[in-house]
Amino acid sequence: MARYTGPVCKLCRREGTKLYLKGDRCYSAKCAIEKRPYPPGQHGQRRSRKLSDYGIRLREKQKLRRIYGMSERQFHNLFTAAVRNKEATGEAFLALLESRLDNVVFRLGLASSRAQARQLVHQGHIAVSGERLDIPSYQVKPGSEIGLAGNAKNFDFIRQNVEANRRRKLSPWLEFDADAMKGRFLRTPAREDLVVPVNELQVIEYYSR
Ligand code: SF4
Repeated sequence: MARYTGPVCKLCRREGTKLYLKGDRCYSAKCAIEKRPYPPGQHGQRRSRKLSDYGIRLREKQKLRRIYGMSERQFHNLFTAAVRNKEATGEAFLALLESRLDNVVFRLGLASSRAQARQLVHQGHIAVSGERLDIPSYQVKPGSEIGLAGNAKNFDFIRQNVEANRRRKLSPWLEFDADAMKGRFLRTPAREDLVVPVNELQVIEYYSR
């Protein structure tokens, strides 16, 4: 299944929780789920279905996939890699998701959303340990330095992202120098570090059916 390209606020309303897909707007009163906290569609306000066990697992899987903005194929491939890992599958899966280059660029505050981070990487504006890298799914290794390539330091929207992010708390597995506009992926985050509104055990059960 291809990546979803429709209105992203609908995804939050569909899942009944904030997925933070739209940058600053997600933290403002303009957030769609704050204004319309019910599923999208004509009958959204009337619907109150009881989900089956399968339905609950499917929704958790969709939620996690949508947070990281991945296609079903990419998401499933990463899950398969997590199963092969020696660590607990749920924790390994979240660690692999968090280590994606587009996610790290977003978490560092160089981009306002994962979608924007993916575009930055794809267009060759990101360097990993000094090397330009344009693969959003690249797995960043602990210790790697993430910075801007070429003239991306002069992009106004990146400067604005960095300024806006000075007010937010940086994830403890990252460090960032806002003046130099570069950061470091210090370590792979543990489950307790992550605030992800998903029960990853339901995702494992979904794929184990
Ligand atoms: Fe979701 Fe952000 Fe849209 Fe709010 S503004 S509904 S958190 S994508």
